[in-house]
Amino acid sequence: MIEYVSTRDQSVRVSSSKAILDGQAAGGGLYVPADIEAVKSDWRSIIKGDFRSMAKAVWNVFFDDYGKEETDRLVEVSYKDKFSAPDITPLVKVGDAYVLELWHGPTSAFKDVALSALPNLMSAARGMNGFTDDIMILTATSGDTGSAAIQGFRDVPGTGIIVFYPHGGVSDTQRLQMVTPDSSNVTACAIRGNFDDAQTGVKKLFREIPKPVKGVSLSSANSINIGRLVPQIVYYFSAYAQLMEKGVIKEGDKVDYVVPTGNFGDIMAGWYALKMGLPVGRLVCASNKNNVLTEFLNTGHYDRKREFYKTTSPSMDILVSSNLERLLWYVCGPEHTLEYMKQLEQTGEYQITDDELFEMQKVFTGVFASDDKGAAAIKGVFESDKYLMDTHTSIAWACMEKYRSGEAPADTVPFGSDAAATVVLSTASPYKFSAAVLEALGEELTGSDEGNMQKVREITDAEVPSGLAGIFSKPVVHKDVIEISDMKPYVIEKCTR
Ligand SMILES: *Cc1c(COP(=O)(O)O)cnc(C)c1O
Repeated sequence: MIEYVSTRDQSVRVSSSKAILDGQAAGGGLYVPADIEAVKSDWRSIIKGDFRSMAKAVWNVFFDDYGKEETDRLVEVSYKDKFSAPDITPLVKVGDAYVLELWHGPTSAFKDVALSALPNLMSAARGMNGFTDDIMILTATSGDTGSAAIQGFRDVPGTGIIVFYPHGGVSDTQRLQMVTPDSSNVTACAIRGNFDDAQTGVKKLFREIPKPVKGVSLSSANSINIGRLVPQIVYYFSAYAQLMEKGVIKEGDKVDYVVPTGNFGDIMAGWYALKMGLPVGRLVCASNKNNVLTEFLNTGHYDRKREFYKTTSPSMDILVSSNLERLLWYVCGPEHTLEYMKQLEQTGEYQITDDELFEMQKVFTGVFASDDKGAAAIKGVFESDKYLMDTHTSIAWACMEKYRSGEAPADTVPFGSDAAATVVLSTASPYKFSAAVLEALGEELTGSDEGNMQKVREITDAEVPSGLAGIFSKPVVHKDVIEISDMKPYVIEKCTR
């Protein structure tokens, strides 16, 4: 049985279903498999299947207390009729690299892959742990996570979800993706304030009313839940299998993955794939101008005391990458991790040892690209290959170019690459960020999201994803706008129904 331990307390040890139910460990730690050797698997047999069978194999390793029959069932339920691509995460050749499209789910961004899974894993975990309360998910969102969480949790038995978003602070597309889904267990609500206000408000509610009414407990769906991380391991295998199928690599060849990174969840999943045995070459951690991870992976110095930039890749605008704590725990050990996290809280920075940095650099390369470089990549790749990337994927593409040219990593990194192929993870559909994509192409904006999306449609051959195509004509079902101070009574009322 895989045992999950808290990164901040060695004595907290739980099963996978309990870790998923808890989300975060008491005391602020994250759950990680205590013995990383235990995840070692027969990767050669895993890559033989389709996406679903790969998912079953991976989940069965990490979520072993569910039992094989149950994880198999949960994979089927999670991915049934949700993704427009038959193989869920198709791989496309672009230039001399391969783009792994992770955005064929209901909200056209990669968070769908994990948020299709988490609600079902949580729902099943209730019964397994004798938990009789219904679970009400509270989420504050700056745009993307909210809609993916709504699509994941809608109609899942024993769960409900309330999403708070900043009034006037999200794009029209993002707002409509949240306010049009009509399910009885879903609520989207605007708050008069910015994203930070929403986030702070939600954190406060978790502290003040963990059980808002009898029979209902609050929980969160953010990416520190191990139930969101593990489903993402699967597509590293899927990409590898597709490269073999295309005859690009032989079994055993190494593959580099370039990952557009914010909270370090997606790329951490790649590290777990490596530990399972998949021949992962380098994991290139691609950041935008908020390049705190680039500095860290090149110098070992994590410093969040820096200016925060709003970029055209908003889902990567993060200064504290929570999931990095998981890597620290494995590489630096429990004691150092605790110390570094304390320093981060108290002083806003920490410095790992040279040996620890060296260990990380054996696998990870940190590279960043500016908005301008990202925009140039969108235009350049569209002109040369007729392939249109969104603003997050293009940051990864620009980072790959920097990495390949030797411009990055900095000369502190002693490890080159002997990979047979490079995969760029594509985390959103270009339609989802139509305005910024049009600007990158040098096109005029139309004045509305709907118009911009139509214009992207005219420029490319690709269909508008079905989840986005209809939202402008759907009725708005969630119309509430409330003050921050009213969040508490609002949640209590919603839980009472
Ligand atoms: C969340 C997100 C990312 C960053 O993923 P992390 O797991 O937070 O590193 C990148 N691109 C898009 C479009 C996202 O929504």
